[in-house]
Amino acid sequence: MKILIIYPYPLFDRSQEEDIRVVPIGVYYVAAVLKEKGYDVEILNWYNIHKSPQRIIDTLRAKKPDIIGFSVLNANRWGGIEIAQIAKKVDPKVKIVFGGVAATFLWKHFLTHFPVIDFVVIGEGEYAFLNLVQVIEQGHVQQLQNTRGIAFRHGNRVVRTKAAKPIDHLDQLPIPATHFQYQHVASSRGCPGKCTFCGSPRFWGHKIRLRSPENFVAELELLYNKGIHFFYFSDDTFTVNKQRVVEICKEILNKGLKIAWVAISRADYVNETILFWMRKAGCIQISYGVESGSEQIRSLLNKGLKTDDIKKAFSLTHRYGILARAYFIYGSPEETWDTIQATIDMIQEIKPFVCVFYILEIYPGTKLYLDYQKKFHVTDDIWLNKMEGICYFESDPHLSQELILNFGKRLRHEFYGRLSGFSQDVDLIDDEQFYAMHADFCSRLGLTFSQGDYANNEAVKNRQQAAERLFNKALGYAPNHRAYLGLGLLKQEQRRYEEAVQVLSQGVQHFPGSEALNVCLGVSYMNLQRHDKALACLLKFQGSKEVNGHIARCYRALGDVGKEGEFLEKAH
Ligand code: SF4
Repeated sequence: MKILIIYPYPLFDRSQEEDIRVVPIGVYYVAAVLKEKGYDVEILNWYNIHKSPQRIIDTLRAKKPDIIGFSVLNANRWGGIEIAQIAKKVDPKVKIVFGGVAATFLWKHFLTHFPVIDFVVIGEGEYAFLNLVQVIEQGHVQQLQNTRGIAFRHGNRVVRTKAAKPIDHLDQLPIPATHFQYQHVASSRGCPGKCTFCGSPRFWGHKIRLRSPENFVAELELLYNKGIHFFYFSDDTFTVNKQRVVEICKEILNKGLKIAWVAISRADYVNETILFWMRKAGCIQISYGVESGSEQIRSLLNKGLKTDDIKKAFSLTHRYGILARAYFIYGSPEETWDTIQATIDMIQEIKPFVCVFYILEIYPGTKLYLDYQKKFHVTDDIWLNKMEGICYFESDPHLSQELILNFGKRLRHEFYGRLSGFSQDVDLIDDEQFYAMHADFCSRLGLTFSQGDYANNEAVKNRQQAAERLFNKALGYAPNHRAYLGLGLLKQEQRRYEEAVQVLSQGVQHFPGSEALNVCLGVSYMNLQRHDKALACLLKFQGSKEVNGHIARCYRALGDVGKEGEFLEKAH
């Protein structure tokens, strides 16, 4: 029995592909459970297959699946439907199963309107899908009624079976890293929050289930040994159990995993002790959903976060050299220019180096959606429209599209305008054991201004000054390769070659084997017409066309025509 699990493409392309290209971790769990039972299962990340649609038919013809499972979010449900329709044309006998968040909340809608979908897996999918596969394989159709956590058509009716039992002990699940390679991992299921715009509370239920630190770190170790050193901890609230977080961090350190990772949390679920351990164990960023600077709007969204908790969390996170990233929502109920100003004031207060602004949208499975349905007598048929979500403002007479767009413009303008200034206020904890990590933090941040996300963003003022300040701050803590190089390049760009030579020479003293530092230093010497010095740096790294070109130019300047010719030839 051949099983494919497909992660389909979204309705609309994104400017940031990362937002859509990652296969949800749940898919790997479902596939791992099937693999352990001996099934031939393959995951296809088809987040962009619509750009080469012929590949859909070719792949399906070649792989000849008996069952195709689709991992469906609201954004990619149409992609799933379109691929399913093609699959049924290629082989009318193939069984199509929809699972995931959108399938869980819209199971009736899918089975009512789309005859190509044979089954829906509702909620936690590992064992429901496995049991369904077994029933399909054995052809015991009468067993479908007894298979928990699924829905299907029975005659003219759509039937849903009893809910699947939650997997109480997550450690019992196979670790997908045994079979697959990925960077997004989750140590828990569920969230203590009850935000009105979020589907997580209803999808997972209110009981939070935790993997043991040993089980979770064993997964990291498996992936680490496959060469993965950067992880995204995608738990809704990684720090939900503080003691366990400390144990995870200690386990990472005990195993000597030299990893960097980012996590998601709530501002009221962090404290100094866990930030201390998280930073030591490689955490470089925490994303917090702040949503709004207005306490009144946060309360309407049922965020349950106090202003003081937000301020404290951002300040503490930054003090430990962890980048605190802020998520904001605008266009919420009762949003006005005053509440937008409250958000701007909050940004000024908490000084995040990354802000992500979203317009409030309504999705199935959320409290907002239930209210919306009740208020406007809307059925799930609304999802027959080709849209990913419902913009809240369209249902609110106090808000207009123009106003919302202006809110967004103002928020971004104010954030970017203030961003460089935040670099002056980086206040890190004075503890020697963190100095090298502080240097890493400041240099990463410096790089976002000089070469990274903000480098070409005209709305961010004084980018070079901010970068220089941060690189210098980094070097005040510890020798740091990224900071020497970033500062050297910056000075080169500004034609401050003497200063570039000074900083890059220091860098080379600390990192003599670094090609990037040596070549950069060589180029600075060339600009100062000190070609003999430049050659001393460059000759150690001859090989690449670029370096050979520099060497040839040095020999030309020194009048050595023979050597110039030799390296010119190598440069071509
Ligand atoms: S938005 Fe975040 S904090 Fe709120 S319920 Fe969802 S996952 Fe939990």
